[in-house]
Amino acid sequence: MKKLVLLLLIYLNFSCSSEKVNDEEIICSDSQLGVNCQDADYIQNSDSPYVLPWEIGKTFKVGQGNCTNGSHSLGQVQYAYDIDMPIGTNIVAMRSGIVVKVIENFKDLETGTVGAINEANVINIKHADGTEAQYVHLTYDGALKNEGDNVTQGEIIALSGNTGKSTGPHLHFHVIQALNECEDTDPRENYTWYSCNSIPLTFKNTSEHCHGLLESDLKSEGYTAELY
Ligand SMILES: [Zn+2]
Repeated sequence: MKKLVLLLLIYLNFSCSSEKVNDEEIICSDSQLGVNCQDADYIQNSDSPYVLPWEIGKTFKVGQGNCTNGSHSLGQVQYAYDIDMPIGTNIVAMRSGIVVKVIENFKDLETGTVGAINEANVINIKHADGTEAQYVHLTYDGALKNEGDNVTQGEIIALSGNTGKSTGPHLHFHVIQALNECEDTDPRENYTWYSCNSIPLTFKNTSEHCHGLLESDLKSEGYTAELY
């Protein structure tokens, strides 16, 4: 009986001193929970493999966050971010990988006009775990890498712009699941059409955002890319 009590005490002591739980409570502000997405599982930003897609020392604001009633509601763009930035801003790779797609032939839009969704310049980078970052609305001739190139985290890969379905200069980006995680939504037998969703992102080189980056009405100072 004594032994059992002792074991129970050890168990209780262990379960109450889990530092990880305490750390999360201290670092993450609960007021932000659900601002972006109800029930979404964001990696704590200090543990994230991603860096912000702009240069160290620069600060930008989030025009549109995740799970909005706007254009980031579902599927491939649910966990996308729109970052307000002037045309020609250097975009850096959030994570190392290989360039799998480049489109850069579309011209930037005149102020007050909106282009077609399939007329956006993009650069897509596949990471070692099969996930793929997609950087969208780049400027004309704005990809600085070619398909097949290897890029390292933090390397300048493109110039932002205002092409495609866009109402002003900004960078839209998201990361989609690895292909083996995607759902085959083709109803026909022997055909496949993978429908891939985006994944919740946090960034290891900026201020606390345990529940995703906040839009500028809640975080008016924006986010600064810091050394990592
Ligand atoms: Zn967007």
